[in-house]
Amino acid sequence: MQRITILGATGSIGVSTLDVLARHPEQYQVYALSAHSRVAELAVQCRQFRPQRAVVGTPEAAAELTRLLAGLPVDVSYGEAALCEIAASPDTDTVMAAIVGAAGLAPTLAAARTGKKILLANKEALVMSGQLFMDAVREHKATLLPIDSEHNAIFQSLPAHYGRAPEAAGVAKILLTASGGPFLNRAVETLESVTPAEACKHPNWSMGRKISVDSATMMNKGLEVIEAHWLFGAPADQIEVVIHPQSVIHSMVSYVDGSVLAQLGNPDMRTPIAHALAYPERIASGVAQLDLTSMSALHFHQPDYARFPCLALAFDALRAGGTAPALLNAANEIAVEAFLEERIGFRDIDRVVRRVMDENEHGAASDIAAVMAQDARARAAASGIVATIARN
Ligand code: NAD
Ligand code: MG
Repeated sequence: MQRITILGATGSIGVSTLDVLARHPEQYQVYALSAHSRVAELAVQCRQFRPQRAVVGTPEAAAELTRLLAGLPVDVSYGEAALCEIAASPDTDTVMAAIVGAAGLAPTLAAARTGKKILLANKEALVMSGQLFMDAVREHKATLLPIDSEHNAIFQSLPAHYGRAPEAAGVAKILLTASGGPFLNRAVETLESVTPAEACKHPNWSMGRKISVDSATMMNKGLEVIEAHWLFGAPADQIEVVIHPQSVIHSMVSYVDGSVLAQLGNPDMRTPIAHALAYPERIASGVAQLDLTSMSALHFHQPDYARFPCLALAFDALRAGGTAPALLNAANEIAVEAFLEERIGFRDIDRVVRRVMDENEHGAASDIAAVMAQDARARAAASGIVATIARN
């Protein structure tokens, strides 16, 4: 029996994870669930999966959840310390890190420091603190399995005992596929006026709002380039982004002998979730088998950096190193939030991130305190810029 904590249980990844777990009750047991504000949804999940612990964002949310769960033996708590507890508890083996954004860093790091099996969806945590996070994983013998579909595909296309040295494994390049999002073919001049609803309408994937906007700006692919760098030890020059609008190939690894290995499937996150849950075995995920004969064609082309400046900004941050990726990530979180609140326009997202990158120094990511300080400075700087251009 694997005992599981889900950080961010009410989100898109959290719900898909519970869907897979419900198919295998004899193999998996839910130890703890967390949500930020969607208390009613968390209460329904608690009634179905009977966790020992549930964690929410505020004392008010905790009081509400306690009321909704009257009669059930669920220990309810709130806040970051409680999230770290359910991630690090000796009563759990596996932690699904599916909180969105920097808020997921502390609990995910707590899971690494207690040697858990970590199923990593929360890419922002790794982008912010890549070296420190990977060091903690190694030092405490944690197991890190990627949930992001591209990284899960790369992981599946690498040799089983890949030791994060691309040359030693004969890897020439990591080919990170990208759908290009909803605005791949829209006239660039019209991007100024797109609405949050349009940006969140991804052609192939159903996801949370923040990652949906990131997919529309392709900042998501930029964060994934940084994520791939840390997960697979590949320098920026060895990671190539390839636009593949159909999202059937989830990413590829090309080898020095000319071989290219890929992982294919229908675009449904339950596949990588099931893969990582059961690894190195396989379990059913509920995803339909891929029907190759029903597909007319698969297309591939290079990304247009003028259309997607966020992708270039992320490569710049990776090459700059240190706390530059934390700066990029925090500025982006603030800009995306302001866009979703309709305070700034879609193209303002890349302008805000660029200005924060240009106007702020980055330093060494020597410890988590340095990363968090950079995160706070970047948020303040981005909020300041947003205030000067905001419509309301
Ligand atoms: P979502 O918005 O649907 O869900 C986010 C979850 O995090 C919710 O459970 C919410 O309660 C919780 N949360 C939000 N803010 C919080 C805070 N301040 N403190 C604690 N908890 C908080 O997001 P999602 O689409 O499920 O994405 C989650 C993570 O997985 C992101 O990092 C995203 O980049 C990554 N990811 C998602 C997908 C996908 O298909 N949705 C694919 C690849 C990677
Ligand atoms: Mg992805």
